[in-house]
Amino acid sequence: MDIKSAEFVMSNSDVAKCPKALLPEYAFIGRSNVGKSSLINMLTNKKSLAKTSGRPGKTQLINHFLINKNWHLVDLPGYGYARVSKSSKKTFQKFITQYFGLREQLVSAFVLVDIRHEPQTIDLEFMQWLGENGIPFSIVFTKADKLKPQAIENHVVAYKTILLETWEDMPNYFITSATNDIGKDAVLNYIDELNGN
Ligand code: GDP
Repeated sequence: MDIKSAEFVMSNSDVAKCPKALLPEYAFIGRSNVGKSSLINMLTNKKSLAKTSGRPGKTQLINHFLINKNWHLVDLPGYGYARVSKSSKKTFQKFITQYFGLREQLVSAFVLVDIRHEPQTIDLEFMQWLGENGIPFSIVFTKADKLKPQAIENHVVAYKTILLETWEDMPNYFITSATNDIGKDAVLNYIDELNGN
């Protein structure tokens, strides 16, 4: 899929106020600093469509972007800040639960994980929760430029091993690097396919 246009639509802290249009929607989510903004900017050919936040965890907004005038890319807040309080963790959970519960337009989520790390509990728990709630998702491994191919393979296998303890199949996954423009076509073509093209 070629990206012909990518426009910011709105930011919301209230799921009920998100766009009403029944356009197919794809949500990007992951830990803070995982490379979500960079990935979104790579996918949309924009330098700063998604803003890299200087104060991670402070703003919890749902950002809608209209792509090619026919689907929404959604930038969800990052999770897993070491420094936020228990009450803001709870607020975050409620917010995310509402988003995934209410957005009937959502076709699939993309859960971003940094390829350099061993599987992290917080990501695994989040994927588990998506699975239990019947929310389709793919995994997007980020920052692939930081590792050699063998190390990438090892980390993917580590994820597979853990996820297959619970699930019958490994979710669809993508290896990406915003720095080296890796994985862009694979993600966009996958979305195109889900959009029925
Ligand atoms: P976000 O908090 O998840 O939106 O993450 P950002 O996109 O702001 O990226 C966090 C940090 O990781 C920044 O310093 C980026 O320059 C860096 N980063 C993001 N993507 C990549 C990548 O593909 N490769 C490398 N080497 N660094 C990246």
